[in-house]
Amino acid sequence: MEDRSIVIIGAGIAGLAAGCYGRMNGYRTEVFEMHDKPGGLCTSWTRKGYTIDGCLHWLTDSKPGPGFYRVWQELGAVQGREMVYFDAFCRLEGRHGEEFVFHNDMERLEQHMLQLSPEDSDLIRDFIKDARKCLRFEMPIDKAPELYGPVDGLKMLLRMLPFLSTVRKWDRLSMEEFASRFKSPFLREILPLIWFPEFSVFPLMAFMAGFHQRRSGYPLGGSLEFSRAIEKRYLGLGGGIQYESKVAKVIVENDRAVGIRTEDGSEHRGDYVISAADGYATIFEMMDGRYVDKRIRGYYEKLAIFPPLVYVAMGVNRTFEDVPPTISGFNMPLAEPMAIGGRLRERLDVHIYNHDPSLAPAGKTVVICMIGSDYGYWKKLRENPEQYREAKEKTARQVIAALDKRWPGFASQIEMCDVATPVTFHRYTGNWQGSFEGWMVTPGMLTLRMKKTLPGLDRFYMAGQWVEPGGGIPSAAFSARNVMQIICKRDKKRFETSFP
Ligand SMILES: Cc1cc2nc3c(=O)[nH]c(=O)nc-3n(C[C@H](O)[C@H](O)[C@H](O)COP(=O)(O)OP(=O)(O)OC[C@H]3O[C@@H](n4cnc5c(N)ncnc54)[C@H](O)[C@@H]3O)c2cc1C
Repeated sequence: MEDRSIVIIGAGIAGLAAGCYGRMNGYRTEVFEMHDKPGGLCTSWTRKGYTIDGCLHWLTDSKPGPGFYRVWQELGAVQGREMVYFDAFCRLEGRHGEEFVFHNDMERLEQHMLQLSPEDSDLIRDFIKDARKCLRFEMPIDKAPELYGPVDGLKMLLRMLPFLSTVRKWDRLSMEEFASRFKSPFLREILPLIWFPEFSVFPLMAFMAGFHQRRSGYPLGGSLEFSRAIEKRYLGLGGGIQYESKVAKVIVENDRAVGIRTEDGSEHRGDYVISAADGYATIFEMMDGRYVDKRIRGYYEKLAIFPPLVYVAMGVNRTFEDVPPTISGFNMPLAEPMAIGGRLRERLDVHIYNHDPSLAPAGKTVVICMIGSDYGYWKKLRENPEQYREAKEKTARQVIAALDKRWPGFASQIEMCDVATPVTFHRYTGNWQGSFEGWMVTPGMLTLRMKKTLPGLDRFYMAGQWVEPGGGIPSAAFSARNVMQIICKRDKKRFETSFP
């Protein structure tokens, strides 16, 4: 049994975590990653002395306590890492000088909302009262839900019982529907912008609990450093990684996954294959859609995904003492609408990274604008490299001009500007449609459990954001841990974990 081996596709957080837990349980593991570095979406890149962070705004359970903290310890991701905790999630500005601050402290948030709109007091109090209930919820992480027996199921039900009515009430509602219940025109306009308008309200409440308790912080040093720590843990456990090795096919013999073939034609065999890469490519390209059923096909035909992004990052030779740091920045109305990615925009999300001095030289700052966009638009444009380059440059010019209006002189202080499009995200991480977090949690999605296996295919598992609606770093790591528990159970091994 000690000699059993696992081939893992992808060195994102899920792939690295699968490798770590595989090694902790005595499996020989080899990860195949198409990029030249670990992390997948959890990454950063440097340009002209600035580090552009491409991911982590917050890490759920970054602080010692229940929940995922134990997983971060097992993966060596938090030891010695300093976290920053913020007072607010974001700020949203109105057209007439109004400002909504999404405070992390729930009492402060309640007072602020009541001040902004006393006529909505019942709705506001109800929202905060129910969000407070989430403070008592602890996510059990010990056992993979796939391995729950009747007793575990009952225990989970009892644990969930006090929250069921809250979940039922708020998971039905999208942010847009929630906002439409307000009488205040300002709150009606800006509440859907906190999150995606189609996002369900309940997961937001769950996140609010983590922010209120200061359990979800930003890891100083950024996302690639975070991923590299897990890579280090994996290599320390004796795991192998092959970079610049794109997997073209999963090798299947007699409906059993037996290995992978990389694009250069080399084959690598193992007792199990775990794909921690993009779901669509895994199912429909690496296996030519031979192992799907109606249910899985339906996901890829009907479910909403987190939209791909146009990611405009700027290195600016100035500081922003006037901007209080928040988890996800602020949203401002534009004096003139701008056309980006074929759509007219009336607002812009701006994130000033003044909370992490390691990302820019002293006295300078990274500023990032995240703009939800459309994959098809950019894919078509990229067929003509000249037009694609011009569209990126135009996007940068428009964003810089808008920010120059806010901070006169901003344009002349720019030292670096980098524009990534949905095509860039797809090219570097393989994620379907360039999505930045997989399946969107729209109303009703919270209870959807996706299988980590494919129908009719043995010894094959999937981990990562395409089998965990809502995505995110914790889900990626947790799903990999769960897959390893399933494999251990199958091999009649006790699932073991350790700390570095
Ligand atoms: C801008 C942004 C902000 C975010 N903010 C947060 C946040 O604040 N908190 C949070 O928890 N999450 C956040 N996320 C989401 C989070 O980054 C993802 O959900 C998570 O990293 C997904 O991990 P994964 O391992 O499932 O997938 P991925 O990161 O996509 O990893 C898949 C890996 O597989 C590799 N791969 C793909 N195809 C192949 C192939 N054929 N052969 C070999 N290798 C292949 C890819 O190169 C990649 O390395 C954010 C994401 C973005 C982009």
